[in-house]
Amino acid sequence: MAIIDAHIHYGDDHPDLLALLEEFDLTLFNICVAHEQGEWRNWSAQAERYRRLTERYPHRFGWCTTFDLPRFDDPDYVDKVIARLDQDFDAGAVACKVWKNVGMEVKNPAGDFFMVDDPLLDPIFDHIARRGRTLLTHIAEPLACWQPLNEDNPHYGYYSRNPEWHMYNKPEFPSHARLMEARDHMIEKHPDLRVVGAHFGSLEYDVDEVAARLDRFPNFAVDISARLLDIAIQDSDKVRHFFIDYADRILFGTDVVMRTPPSQMDAETRAQAIQSLRETYQTHFAYFERGDEMTIRGRSTRGIALPAQVLEKFYRTNAERWYPGLSARSS
Ligand SMILES: [Zn+2]
Repeated sequence: MAIIDAHIHYGDDHPDLLALLEEFDLTLFNICVAHEQGEWRNWSAQAERYRRLTERYPHRFGWCTTFDLPRFDDPDYVDKVIARLDQDFDAGAVACKVWKNVGMEVKNPAGDFFMVDDPLLDPIFDHIARRGRTLLTHIAEPLACWQPLNEDNPHYGYYSRNPEWHMYNKPEFPSHARLMEARDHMIEKHPDLRVVGAHFGSLEYDVDEVAARLDRFPNFAVDISARLLDIAIQDSDKVRHFFIDYADRILFGTDVVMRTPPSQMDAETRAQAIQSLRETYQTHFAYFERGDEMTIRGRSTRGIALPAQVLEKFYRTNAERWYPGLSARSS
């Protein structure tokens, strides 16, 4: 069965990687991230890398652009964003991402956190809808971000390594609930815009919370990227029902981040990196396809053995429907 990883950051075409994509019949949907510091800075370079890969291997790669963060002193900010979006959509991007720095980092001139439902962004989101493209939102963080560090939580590693993103005991930052409210309000304001909520819509702790949003907003879907363990530690029967009940609204994705291109690795490191990617896929496939007891990152769970028709939607056709223009084009 052809499979689309609908959320990944993997911009390389070393033959060993292409062989892995062949092995699993995988298409990678690469996502640009706009952040002014650290590993994500210069999103145009990400865009260019993903655009070229998609042009060269249209059956193995697709891409999602993003947009510059607000420049409150630039009266042409919105026009410039729209012009760039048009350029990227014309160059093959099928979606646009908004990242967690909206809501959690960027401040408006009054000193308040800039929220995703801010009217400044309305013409941009309207434009994406008019162009028939999709908005991918990574708004907020897992709930654990606002809770004390807890070694049992799937996100313990991330928040112990990235304290700047850990919001526990930082009342000056917006709460998880406030960010969800802004995200939900934005979806509600744009009923003609397809919105995909990355990382299980930041409601990874309970499938009922995701279900409540899917019931409320017909223009909303979620991807499971980087949230396998959050899902797998919930009751397997409940999760299985959720995946079957909302079979048209959940997209498969891993959120694997390529830090060094395999092409620039020595042979041994590359073999390890490709093997680790292979194991990431095998772990996901085992949980969704099998019904036996298994261990994921040291936690015991039981796979949810999804029926074949549900798997096909989850693995491929939902990504094609929610991101028109993205296609596995399986040979
Ligand atoms: Zn991501």
